[in-house]
Amino acid sequence: MNANELQQLLLDKLGADCVVTAPSDLVAWTTDWRGMYHGQAAAVVRPRTTEDVAACVALCAAHGVPVVPRGGNTGLCGAATPDQNPLNVVLSLDRMNAIVSVDPVANTMVVQAGCILGDLQRAAEEHGRLFPLSLAAEDSCQIGGNLATNAGGVNVVRYGMVRDLVLGLEVVLPSGEIWNGLRTLRKDNTGYDLKQLFLGSEGTLGIITAAALRIFPATKSRAVALVAIDTPQHALDLFSIMFERCAGRIDAFEYFSGDCLELVLGVTPSLRRPFAEPHAGYVLVELGDSGEAEVLHELLENALGDALERECCSDVAVASSLAQACALWQLREDISEAQRVDGPHLKHDVSLPIERIPAFIEAARQRLFAQFPDLRLFVFGHLGDGNLHYNVSRPRDAAPDYFTSCGDAVTDIILDEVARQDGSFSAEHGIGQLKRKHLRAYKSALEIRMMEDLKRTFDPKGIMNPGKIL
Ligand code: FAD
Ligand code: ZN
Repeated sequence: MNANELQQLLLDKLGADCVVTAPSDLVAWTTDWRGMYHGQAAAVVRPRTTEDVAACVALCAAHGVPVVPRGGNTGLCGAATPDQNPLNVVLSLDRMNAIVSVDPVANTMVVQAGCILGDLQRAAEEHGRLFPLSLAAEDSCQIGGNLATNAGGVNVVRYGMVRDLVLGLEVVLPSGEIWNGLRTLRKDNTGYDLKQLFLGSEGTLGIITAAALRIFPATKSRAVALVAIDTPQHALDLFSIMFERCAGRIDAFEYFSGDCLELVLGVTPSLRRPFAEPHAGYVLVELGDSGEAEVLHELLENALGDALERECCSDVAVASSLAQACALWQLREDISEAQRVDGPHLKHDVSLPIERIPAFIEAARQRLFAQFPDLRLFVFGHLGDGNLHYNVSRPRDAAPDYFTSCGDAVTDIILDEVARQDGSFSAEHGIGQLKRKHLRAYKSALEIRMMEDLKRTFDPKGIMNPGKIL
């Protein structure tokens, strides 16, 4: 079958309203948002119903045609970009964006997969509830993409990854069958937990069309502080104190190195320096509660007073208004953008047993500098989850293509140290096409075999997002 014949079959089955075939219209659907990956497709299908998704997948299965599920295209590993097969069909969920129900008694929300994450947060808020998944791409990414990548973000320390927020799923399987697992039960020990297989599967096992999600009491008060620390070990000691004193109320516990702050302030000089002197590192801590703000602030200030007394921090800045809290958060949130302005760099999204973070930071630094003494390290991340964004920028006077020759060697040193410390080479961004070789390098042969067996069971024809993960 050629691309024209496939387009005609799709048009006959689903109608012109659902099927995009003009080559100029396909470009945007076959490229990732950073422009790192470019693929090919015969068509983009934009269904409005689960039955249309199933009809499309059944047609593709009958002809052995690859299907690439597509959410908001904000993924960082090229997982939503098709490969070079000209017969690929990109299946976009963007029109399936209904919020089916929000139940503030059961504390559940049932939604279609194409809903934008920010819209779900606002829908929960209208009912006095919180949907806690929060990440910088929240006004573009879709919940289907979040589920398929098992997304993390800044509130994982309190609410867990997306995996922990899901009660049920509806999925179109690679055969075209519809699995209705859209239950809202909290307790359901009836054999294997099938929904968990699709979370984090990056569209390789089936297409998520709807989800039943958990929602929580709305956060009525917040208390935010930036804490200056001398060493990563002090950040851990602080975490331990905060955990003891404020357990259950820590919404975020974010670390960034002093170099990250200097980079941000250099790129945006209008931002206010939070402390008179630069420090080796910083922790941004946010507490949240459904009760009174005064009580929460007192809790935070007492815990930080304790930390100062125990000498695990050198200075603290507590936000006394929402504007101040936002200004402190901006210092953390602007790091990625400041790095983009600074130029090409290597990103590593790693996780470690939290107690090993200080040893990892020190060992990785020493090993990198032994071979590449002028690299610039920008280390930040969700410390409360053991998740570091360990990013590396070229030496100050090096050409922009510096990493073309040595990027792999730099990454190998970092990921080898992660493995030595029993960590993971991908904490929250997944595998996609970017990290397939790392999966082969760092997972055991037995783990790879179990994954391949699962893939074959669900997708014997190998049509679902080929070339991703495995
Ligand atoms: P896409 O990029 O469209 O797709 C991602 C994968 O999911 C692909 O494999 C695709 O095939 C599959 N997929 C999409 N929809 C479905 C579906 N309905 N059924 C089956 N498979 C599907 N990620 C984090 O975890 N934490 C962060 O803090 C974070 N911060 C970010 C900040 C910025 C500025 C950006 C640009 C990205 C960030 N990300 C972060 C990465 C990204 O936002 C997440 O991976 C997000 O979950 C992807 O959702 P999406 O809808 O854009 O999916
Ligand atoms: Zn992150």
